Amino acid sequence: MKYDITFIGGGPGGYVAAIKASLEGLKVALVEKKKVGGTCLHAGCIPTKTLLSGTDIIRTLKIAKDFGINVSDFSFDYSKMKLRKDAVVETLWKGVTGLLKAHKVDVYHGHGSFVSPTQIKVLGTDTTLIETKNVVIATGSVAASIPICGVDGKIIHDSTTILQMTALPKKLIILGAGYIGCEFASLFSELNVNVSMVEFLPGIVWTQGKSISKMLTDAFLKKKIELLCNVKAQECKTTESSVELSLSNGSKVHGDMLLVSVGRKPYTKDLNLNAAGIATDEHGFITVDNKMRTSVPGVFAIGDVTGLSMLAHTASHQGIIAAEVVAGKNVTMQYDSIPAVIFTHPEIATVGLSLAQAKEKGFQADSAIFPLTALGKARAANDTEGQVEIISERTTGRILGAFMVGHDAGNLIAEMTLAISNELTLECISETIHAHPTLSEAWMEAAQIAQGHPIHLPPRR
Ligand code: FAD
Repeated sequence: MKYDITFIGGGPGGYVAAIKASLEGLKVALVEKKKVGGTCLHAGCIPTKTLLSGTDIIRTLKIAKDFGINVSDFSFDYSKMKLRKDAVVETLWKGVTGLLKAHKVDVYHGHGSFVSPTQIKVLGTDTTLIETKNVVIATGSVAASIPICGVDGKIIHDSTTILQMTALPKKLIILGAGYIGCEFASLFSELNVNVSMVEFLPGIVWTQGKSISKMLTDAFLKKKIELLCNVKAQECKTTESSVELSLSNGSKVHGDMLLVSVGRKPYTKDLNLNAAGIATDEHGFITVDNKMRTSVPGVFAIGDVTGLSMLAHTASHQGIIAAEVVAGKNVTMQYDSIPAVIFTHPEIATVGLSLAQAKEKGFQADSAIFPLTALGKARAANDTEGQVEIISERTTGRILGAFMVGHDAGNLIAEMTLAISNELTLECISETIHAHPTLSEAWMEAAQIAQGHPIHLPPRR
């Protein structure tokens, strides 16, 4: 078969870009070895957020009496929560499968590998050789491992195997406190699992900056999640039903399950990159320019395998750029307004630069913070935990960054994403009428503070 463009990998990078390429009038093939939808749909974004939606309900039930509502008793059945999660994934997977068909993308089921930059061998349910003018590598990433803890899917899990578990442990150790480890900590602690986190860096979600780390630390300590930071796991011993982790400070931590969540690594296994001469960096990520082109003409790479932001929406957007470049458009990938959400409780969302990053880049920047406690809607809904912050350029008022900790931060960050990607100013936000009472008013209030005329806070002295 001859194609204009062939995607290897059908995650949110590959499948979205394949549809876009088809809309651009290209003849498109997609090779997928497991199931279209990739990590995001089957072992990442969607399963974790489906389970977390269940814990939102549990949290609401726990505070119902504060609203004058008596819920005499309630319980949950984790095996049923897992079944619901599987059903949501299945429905969305069928949707993606149908969309690819409707958009006339030829899907090949099997492992794809390079024979040359214009030939892809497929081995699996479909075994064939694809001739193609362009190739997009969208093979994603897999959980990184550490030699002392071998994942067995029973006592020791990674982020993929733990989603198949049907009964909760009593005591869970999470090794690694990046965003994935913290989302699992939030999920399982709400389900009454006793959680201990072990982290090599000085704090949890440390790469997000000190203030975000501190806010989440305070919230996790209130939930009685044990945080053991600045320590390295040195030895791991397991029995049939328990695990013991020895730490570099001489202490030991015990549990009946361990989740290893120590990052992700690029997945290029048996892709035969050498046959096409494709360059990677020292960690194995495929190097690309801002048009998603690799070192080989006609070969592109997108998504986690490039290591450039490792989020589903980045993968999709990179894919759209690659499809448009192949279709002859002069477009480039921009990374300065990509939102990132940590779906813990409280939720955390960021976009653009922090104040420290803005200053490092040479901006004369200021920040303005508005606490959710001062918002009518937050009080009405009892969602007063958290704040918003806007970082702006002093002379022009241009918005450079924003972050929010609090209820629905992941949805609310969209306004700041739009602002940054369109170079909007504080004035644009403060003069936009925001519906009352809503949490979105927090952005308007923060912009007013930054301009020196706060309405719902006392003036600065
Ligand atoms: P993937 O989704 O990994 O897809 C790659 C696909 O390629 C897979 O289907 C694989 O089977 C296939 N493949 C690999 N090699 C071959 C081959 N040789 N031949 C054929 N097929 C091949 N991101 C967010 O934005 N929001 C979230 O809330 C979020 N939550 C997450 C939670 C967890 C627990 C994890 C692990 C990740 C989460 N992510 C989240 C990250 C997100 O899942 C990834 O950024 C995203 O899936 C990357 O998309 P991709 O298309 O690059 O790769």
